[in-house]
Formats: sequence, C-alpha cells, structure tokens
Amino acid sequence: AIDIKHIRQNPGLYEQNCIDRNYAAHSKSSWRIIELHEQWLALQQNARHLRERNNQIRGQLKANSHSAGEGEGQSRELLIDEAKALKAEIGTIEAKEVVLQEEIDNLAQDLPNLSSTDTPVGTEPQLLEYINDHPEPEPSQSDRVWRSHVHIGSELGILDFAASAQTSGWGWYFLVGDAAMLEQALVQYALTVARNRGWKAVAPPSLVYSHVASACGFQPRDQNGEQQVYAIEQSEKDQAKPQLVLAGTAEIPLAGMKANQTFEDVELPLKTVGVSRCYRAEAGARGIDTKGLYRVHEFTKVEMFAWTLPDTNEQEHFAADTPSNSKTIFEEMLSIQKEILQSLGLHCRVLEMPTTDLGASATRKIDIEAFFPSRREKHEGWGEVTSTSMCTDYQSRRLHTRVRLGKTGGKLEFPYTLNGTALAVPRVLAAILENSWNEHDYSVTIPEVLRPFMGGQEMIQGH
Ligand code: AMP
Repeated sequence: AIDIKHIRQNPGLYEQNCIDRNYAAHSKSSWRIIELHEQWLALQQNARHLRERNNQIRGQLKANSHSAGEGEGQSRELLIDEAKALKAEIGTIEAKEVVLQEEIDNLAQDLPNLSSTDTPVGTEPQLLEYINDHPEPEPSQSDRVWRSHVHIGSELGILDFAASAQTSGWGWYFLVGDAAMLEQALVQYALTVARNRGWKAVAPPSLVYSHVASACGFQPRDQNGEQQVYAIEQSEKDQAKPQLVLAGTAEIPLAGMKANQTFEDVELPLKTVGVSRCYRAEAGARGIDTKGLYRVHEFTKVEMFAWTLPDTNEQEHFAADTPSNSKTIFEEMLSIQKEILQSLGLHCRVLEMPTTDLGASATRKIDIEAFFPSRREKHEGWGEVTSTSMCTDYQSRRLHTRVRLGKTGGKLEFPYTLNGTALAVPRVLAAILENSWNEHDYSVTIPEVLRPFMGGQEMIQGH
C-alpha cells in the first residue's frame, strides 16, 4: 500500500526529507529502493523469457505428441527435461522476487512522511501565538514566590512519589485525594469540550499489536536504539502470535480501529476522542524532566483522532500545500486545545514544530507549551502540553484503511488522518498546581471550569 512509485520517481525528495528530519539512517533508502526495483525488474524480465520458452516447449510437445517416431521420442525427452529445469528456475526467480519485494516494502515502510511546506526546516520551532499572554519574563521582576508542583503537591499530601518509588520505581506517582479527583475532572472537562464540538467518545484497549503501532509510525526503539514501548512477555506457546505492546497513546488503537476497513465518503470526517492510560518506557537520560509529573511512565490522556477525505486535487500526496479538508480538522483540534488551556488559566505559546521534531507519521505538527514556574531556570518555564499532527495518508496506507469516493465512480483512496492531545493529565495538573497555588496558606485555587466536575469544590485546602 506504500506509494513505491512516488518514491522511485522522487528519490532526491525523500533523501532530503530524511536529512531534514534527522533520519540519517534512512536517507539513502529511496536510492536503495530504486536499485532493488531495478533488480526486481531484471528478474521479472528473465522470468518472462523463461515462461515464453516454457510455453514454446509445451506447444512443441503438444504438436508432436501424435507423431512419436524413434528420433522424436528422444527430443521429446530433452524438451521435457528442459521444461522441468525451466520450472525450477522460474520458481527460484519468483522466490527472489518476493524477497526483493519485501525488502523494498520494509525500506518504504520505515521512511518518514514528507514534511509540509508549513513546517520549518531544521531544529527551531516557529512561534505562532500566545494564549493568556506571555508570563512575566524574569523571576527577579516579580515578587511572586514560585514553587514546583513536586513541592506543592507533597506539602498538600496530594502527590506521593515516595510511595510509588516503593511500588513501581522512578517515574511513577500516586495522585491522592484532591489530585486524584482533579485528574477525573480534567478528563471529564476535556471530553465535554470535545463532545460539544461533535467528537465521538471511544474507550480503546491499552494493549495493541506492535505491527499496528509500527504502521502508525511508532517503532519499538527510537533513533538511538532506546526502547520506547513496554512489550508484553509472551510464553513459549504464544511465540507464534503477534507481539503485544502497551500503547503509548490512544492514537494507536484509535487508528487501528479502522485498519482494513473502507469508509464511504459521506462518513468522513469521522472525529473520535479517546481516553486512555498511556505507557512510555522513556528510556535514556532526560535530565530535569525526570523529576515530578513532567515525564512519567504512565498517564491518562484524552486524545482526538480523525479521518478526513484525502485532498483529491493533489494527485501527488507530497509536500505541497496542506490539504484543505484535513486542515479544517487540524484547526478545529487546535481551537479545542486553546479553549481548554485558556479556560484553565494557563499561560501558553503555540509553536509550528520544525522538521526534526516531527514524528514519523506527521507532515506537520503544532505543539502548545504551557508556562511552568519550576522550569524557569532551564527552559524559560516552557513545557509541551499538547501536540497535534497532520498525517496525510501515511497511517491509512500502512493500516489499509480506505475511503470510497462516490462522486468519482466509487474510486478507492486512502483517507487522511490527524491526531491531537485534548488533554494529557500530568503536565496540566502540574501546571495548575504551580500557577494557581496561594503562597500564604499553600492552598490551590481550582480553575472555575473544573469545579462542576468536583462537586463545586473551589480550593484544594492548604495548611
Ligand atoms: P505525544 O503523544 O508524545 O505527542 O504527547 C502528547 C502529550 O502527552 C504531551 O504534550 C504531553 O502533555 C504528554 N506526555 C507525553 N509524554 C509524557 C510523559 N512521559 N509524561 C507525562 N506526560 C507526557
């Protein structure tokens, strides 16, 4: 289902795209695909000649089957031997063709999506706008005392990292009392906002096949060979079954929900919103981020996932202008995220992410970062809270999801997919604690929009 033809016709484009996206190991793949394809063509040609010769022999055998004289019997045997040898040779060639085809498919499968022209090339994001204004620039210019959510939460007895160190280790946490309720309120609130805009709630499974995760653009290991997903150990007798992994995001089961299915065009766009626990191995050194709730191994996330019609004006599904149809849903996702973050009172900035920051499946990605006082020293306070990706047909090709375009005589196309965070709990919870705590008594003011989901509670009581 991968568009090998497009890759073969544009090897330079794919190479540059890999370089731009920091996929050095794959930058020569498009050229290798051409090489393998040429070998494949040569094999095909060879097989064709052999088949022609085989047909010729069969014709000859048929023609002289009635007139089997002395000498003819001998040549008949020779012909039969030749046909046998040809058959064996054709079989060997066909096996080689399959191996080449697989190698081509694997190389193509692992290539990242082509970047949109909206995506800045390089490592620097482009600032698009602020939400709730920029916070004060310098700690010294503010008489506000800032504390980290680890400090506030521990003081209030609502975050417990000591307990999780005993039960599960580093990178895990207990939410206790009001923090546990705040998680539920955040989920309910995000779901409510999304459902009000017509997004359909889905509760997906947490375990998925690793081949489904790969088709969505998630490889078990990252570029540095670090394990990114938790894999389920399989017993001896299950070795032949496909590997199961814990999903790092509901995007995977949501995308997989329509694998091998065909939409009717009137069914699109289909907008779903899934709540799930997300599991991330997060291997590798991450410095400051390993403290508190910022980067953890398990968390709750409300995720939006949509399928749209492909942009049919674009014969070539590459880095030309972003397709209008999926662009509309992309904008809708961003507007939901902005509504949620704005109403929670968080200072945020919206960034068009650069090529090196895009996941394999994305052609374009916009992140929203919130202001965390605890990150002031090292990251000027900014930390990513949402991420929205436009994936064109990258995932639907790999998952064999199609759409029948009624207007063009039932033609089958690949729909476009998009995914975006409606709300990932831990970072938002941390940002609320850090931005809404009251120094004089350590209480935390609960954002108004969450109160209906907390029985009207207005404060997390302090000392
Ligand atoms: P991603 O699915 O990686 O694009 O992440 C979506 C959002 O999930 C991020 O913007 C974060 O808010 C949150 N997130 C991702 N990884 C973690 C993690 N390890 N711990 C806590 N939150 C995370």
